[in-house]
Amino acid sequence: MKTLRLVLGDQLTRSISSLADLEPARDVVLMVEVAAEATYVRHHKQKIALIFSAMRHFAEGLRGEGITVDYVALEDQGNTGSFEGELRRALLRHEPDRVIVTEPGEWRVWQMMLEWRETMPVPVEIRADDRFVASRDEFAAWAKGRKTYRMEFFYREMRRKTGLLMKGDVPVGGQWNFDAENRKSLPAGYHPPQRLRFEPDAVTREVLALVERHFPDHFGDLAPFGWPVTRADALKALDHFIAVALEGFGDFQDAMKRGEDFLHHALLSPALNIGLLTPMELCRAAERAYLEGRAPLNAVEGFIRQVIGWREFVRGLYWNEMPGYAETNALSARRALPDFYWTGETDLACLKECITATRRNAYAHHIQRLMVTGNFALLAGVAPREIEQWYLLVYADAFEWVELPNVHGMVMFADGGLLASKPYAASGAYIDRMSDYCAGCRYDPAVKSGPGACPFNPLYWNFLIENEDKLGNNPRMAMPYRNLRRFSAERRAEITREAAAFLDEVAPRQG
Ligand SMILES: Cc1cc2nc3c(=O)[nH]c(=O)nc-3n(C[C@H](O)[C@H](O)[C@H](O)COP(=O)(O)OP(=O)(O)OC[C@H]3O[C@@H](n4cnc5c(N)ncnc54)[C@H](O)[C@@H]3O)c2cc1C
Ligand code: SF4
Repeated sequence: MKTLRLVLGDQLTRSISSLADLEPARDVVLMVEVAAEATYVRHHKQKIALIFSAMRHFAEGLRGEGITVDYVALEDQGNTGSFEGELRRALLRHEPDRVIVTEPGEWRVWQMMLEWRETMPVPVEIRADDRFVASRDEFAAWAKGRKTYRMEFFYREMRRKTGLLMKGDVPVGGQWNFDAENRKSLPAGYHPPQRLRFEPDAVTREVLALVERHFPDHFGDLAPFGWPVTRADALKALDHFIAVALEGFGDFQDAMKRGEDFLHHALLSPALNIGLLTPMELCRAAERAYLEGRAPLNAVEGFIRQVIGWREFVRGLYWNEMPGYAETNALSARRALPDFYWTGETDLACLKECITATRRNAYAHHIQRLMVTGNFALLAGVAPREIEQWYLLVYADAFEWVELPNVHGMVMFADGGLLASKPYAASGAYIDRMSDYCAGCRYDPAVKSGPGACPFNPLYWNFLIENEDKLGNNPRMAMPYRNLRRFSAERRAEITREAAAFLDEVAPRQG
């Protein structure tokens, strides 16, 4: 049976299910660069370049194996600009008996594919994406009957399933989780390791020029572009991370430093999310480093937990809870996203640092995402949809299955606690403790209110006041609410006034 196999831009894995039983002499692989997907949000220029360049390299690899690839480039004549339009044109060109595709990473595209099964002139088979440790069904079975989901319990299941850092049924080191050791701030004068970036080759340079022509007004800087776009380079990036940065990954996981964009983080999520690497490959490499004495347990366990814990967990939650998940707004947050999220032009030094790094790299590390840009949006009460759109377009690794639960659940608490037991809300003291940002700021994290006070301080207390009816009885918020309840009525009124004056200027209320 002649088969047309559609491979999407985040499915660049040779063992992807849609290519599993490919017959090179008979089948055709279809890959399409479509304007609709590149522009439905104004993705960071580097993200578009990463995906198009990696697609072109992947297609070349398949051709090298003698496979017929029908590759529709963005500027090709007749390109309709949509998946559906390009699939229909390809059906006319190749007259296959059927179409096979692997399920996508976004609910919207999945609905589109389900419709194809009714509307296309040949049968369309949608296969499960088996590049994850847990299947969607497996997560659904684990989640059944639970009112809230907690990553830690799911993670233990994944450790047992994979055998990673396990001695029989017992976790190596006698503990599942070494997070308590992973909150060190950086010592003065500390220099993190130099990181591997990749010089664009001819294919990437062509794509960079195309992105500049077609998407000049999209977010972010196109150069310097240093992401790996082939599996070979992604493997080099993995080896380099294990050799130079994994050792400090645990200790400094929550640290932030001016002018240091990467610290000890892996920088592997863009390659991983488009399929150039697999999650188990990352975890086995880290585990090997521990077993060979090249990295300590707190670093290796912490890293493995991010990959088979958080990454798998948010993916399972996304598919289990969509489409309703995206609609909730448990804290009734309604403010506009401040303009400085686009420009980086703000006198809050921490936000300026994280947003300008995001513009430069299409990347920010986890704690910058969670405790700076995320924390501010939470405290300011930015409407979930506005901040979600921002997160979906600014990073090279952003795909809805992973972005949405992290933003909607972890950052904004918009799901009312389905993902996290409490909001990650923090005042300026946290940012001061974990970074050197405050030293270069016109505000002072030690000043609680009035001129010169760090804006995170009144915003933090205002957040607690505004959400007292929803969060006041949360046992994990008992301590801050105990402190708040000691405040006089005048102090509370002053906080509310100060926060409103600040927010009405930078993030006006909508609706
Ligand atoms: C508000 C917010 C938005 C985020 N949006 C995305 C996103 O769009 N895409 C994305 O891949 N990650 C997202 N994350 C998770 C995490 O921040 C990134 O995976 C990480 O920063 C990627 O960089 P790294 O490879 O250097 O990761 P490291 O810090 O070195 O971690 C190693 C790997 O663990 C995985 N990982 C770590 N934390 C998470 C997590 N919370 N959820 C899922 N996987 C995780 C990633 O695959 C990552 O490559 C988001 C987190 C927050 C708080
Ligand atoms: S003082 Fe406040 S606004 Fe300034 S860098 Fe520190 S936390 Fe950010």
